[in-house]
Amino acid sequence: MRTYTRQNAIADNIKNWLETYTRYPVDKPMAWTKGVPLGFYVERVKALEPSTCTRAQLLLAMGGGDNWGINECDECGKDADVLMRFGDEPDYEARWQDLCAACLCSALDQMP
Ligand SMILES: [Zn+2]
Repeated sequence: MRTYTRQNAIADNIKNWLETYTRYPVDKPMAWTKGVPLGFYVERVKALEPSTCTRAQLLLAMGGGDNWGINECDECGKDADVLMRFGDEPDYEARWQDLCAACLCSALDQMP
């Protein structure tokens, strides 16, 4: 287990976004870019510094999408600055679980 912070989530979002959108032609718009070539957004996201980028900077660079930069607890669904991550790297059969402090405390309270 290890901590998983909002900054970890933002850095992972940047990496995943670039892995996804650099597969498409950068000289053409996508449905969500409203006529702007994809490359405009790709260059903005590439310019972000994953270790210091804020959620607001992330959303601006990516052109929207309210779910980017959220660090969501897998038990209660709340957004948290810090989660505790349990489990292994995700694959097709399993994944990790990210839990907030309140859910961890609740789990301890339920243990006999
Ligand atoms: Zn929770």
